[in-house]
Amino acid sequence: MSITVHLPDGTALELAQGATGADAAAAIGAGLARAAIAVAVQRDGSEPQVVDLARPLESGVRIAILTAKSGPQALEVIRHDAAHVLATAMCELYPGVKLAIGPPIAEGFYYDFDLPEGVRLSDDDLPAIEERMRAHIAAAERFERSELSVSAARERFAAEGQDYKVELIDDIVRSAPAQAPVQTVSLYTNGPFTDLCRGPHAPDTSAIKAFRLQSVAGAYWRGDSKRPMLTRVYGTAFFSQKELEEHQARLEAARARDHRRLGRDLDLFLFSELSPGSPFWTPAGMTIFNELTSAWRALNSARGYHEVRTPILYDAELWRQSGHWEKYRENMYFTEVEGRQMGLKPMNCPAHIQIYKSARRSYRDLPIRYSEAGLVHRHEPSGVLHGLLRVRHITQDDAHIFCSEDQVQEEVRACLQFAFEIYELFDFDVRLELSTRPTQRIGSEEMWDRAEAALAGALDAQGLAYERNEGDGAFYGPKIDLHMEDAIGRSWQLGTIQLDYSMPERFDLRYNGADNAEHVPVMIHRALLGSFERFIGILLEHFAGELPLWLAPVQALIAPVSDPAAAYAQRVAERLRAGGVRCELDLRAESLGRKIRDAELRKIPYILVVGPKEAAASTVSARVRRRRKGAPPGEVEHHEQQTELDELCAELERERYPQSIRALRTPGGRLPTEALEQKLDIL
Ligand SMILES: [Zn+2]
Ligand SMILES: [Zn+2]
Repeated sequence: MSITVHLPDGTALELAQGATGADAAAAIGAGLARAAIAVAVQRDGSEPQVVDLARPLESGVRIAILTAKSGPQALEVIRHDAAHVLATAMCELYPGVKLAIGPPIAEGFYYDFDLPEGVRLSDDDLPAIEERMRAHIAAAERFERSELSVSAARERFAAEGQDYKVELIDDIVRSAPAQAPVQTVSLYTNGPFTDLCRGPHAPDTSAIKAFRLQSVAGAYWRGDSKRPMLTRVYGTAFFSQKELEEHQARLEAARARDHRRLGRDLDLFLFSELSPGSPFWTPAGMTIFNELTSAWRALNSARGYHEVRTPILYDAELWRQSGHWEKYRENMYFTEVEGRQMGLKPMNCPAHIQIYKSARRSYRDLPIRYSEAGLVHRHEPSGVLHGLLRVRHITQDDAHIFCSEDQVQEEVRACLQFAFEIYELFDFDVRLELSTRPTQRIGSEEMWDRAEAALAGALDAQGLAYERNEGDGAFYGPKIDLHMEDAIGRSWQLGTIQLDYSMPERFDLRYNGADNAEHVPVMIHRALLGSFERFIGILLEHFAGELPLWLAPVQALIAPVSDPAAAYAQRVAERLRAGGVRCELDLRAESLGRKIRDAELRKIPYILVVGPKEAAASTVSARVRRRRKGAPPGEVEHHEQQTELDELCAELERERYPQSIRALRTPGGRLPTEALEQKLDIL
């Protein structure tokens, strides 16, 4: 008797009945047999499942032998191995420790422990635990799988005082479907340690080539604040020391750029438990916010958008009509006002629709483009809130375009070009994704076919490369997402351009066509920054806080070397301010070195030192921050230059805005809308 399995390249492999993944690897080659970690098995039409090499294969399956070169799937296996080895070490070092769960996660693994009475763990304890783990890895302990009856396993863990494992077994039994009750559970043993575990695992612990314990944190059992607080140890593992070191370096770089830390150090924004997930912008942070808003406004207006502003609180009836009630209710905030149920808007679209509907529209009016720095609220569970990157209070750079079917492609093209223009301001490289119909959706299949074809057409017509992201569209239509890769290689989604044939129908939108008949317009939703909050968070991380000059809260700091120079310093400040430059005067009785150091810590782009010599010659000696040649954004060096005051003013005037925004400015040095705001005293 024999079985046949299929390899990734399609070839069939004949094996003896009962052959395992390890046998398959050996049949292919001795090298592969040595390198094999686990095997991915795929039954007809189902998702591939990674299993132990020791498991017998079924005839007809497709298999792929996983090795160190197989990427995330193989990494996940050895990270799970490492979690077991961590628990092995913990049991030896802390007798009586109770074990909860220890899964692999995106960047590594963790294990949750209930430590014996009086024991507390800190980062200082990690080296000793690592030491013990290394011994178990060096011993190449085999991972042996065994199946036990539910009652035997329960008895075993109860006898060991492992209450959490007993609870897990009870849960496995309880959550099993009635038609397939659970009779047995699997256990894995390596050396002296046995854990309740589904697997898979590598053949032995030596597959863990490099690992590191990273931190200790508290975590409630099952994430439930009414259950015990456990001690979670985080770690990561790789197939080589080199990969581990690269990972550590990436973490280090990310930590130095963490926008939450920069926000605190540069005094840009803060968060409070009084309003979770909602930033409080300080004056310096608000400067960044306002500069971005002004640029956004000027660029929108140059591209034929009309700015609107709409309420944030609406009758729930509106959300029923828009479909948000049906598909998005859990993420919304509701309240009752005078007996009416009202909801905070999670999106601006239904509001812009009200403006569209407020008049009769003709084909001559189209396209109509409304933009709004729209304040929306979305409920994010507190566990996922993350600085500015994941908030509940969101100011979108939103816009909705109402157009006719034959204008769709051109409008999408213009949106893409607009996006490229904005990203160009920051030198972002953009990656495009086309996301298609999700399982949760409204609208007919025919509508989705048309909408997906229109977006693909706009991309193809411009010869743009993009990936297809099947099933990731919005519930009302497909979309193009724009992603950028930051200075340390992380990918961020920024903008989105979404096509919508559904909402105009739901809201009964019409326009009068050239044929004098009524037509339904198409709606395009688009945001290019995403939200101002998140975009600023991304900018801070990308530039490591060294923001482009036009966004720097303080652009120039003037440091007089002595008292007599103070009057001249004052004059320099006035000149710069008159030119619209945001500057500060450091008149503290500190040494010059201290003033310069402080200004550098605040990441101020121009530090202007003035003394009697400069006063006499009408010059300044400037320390100017420049991006280090060839270095990623955020790595800067300072250049010293002696400059005539007039020349410096001209330079700052020139550099104060990127070219494309400067073109939109009035001669007074301000963006037109900025000047308008001041006149109207808005914001
Ligand atoms: Zn396990
Ligand atoms: Zn929208």
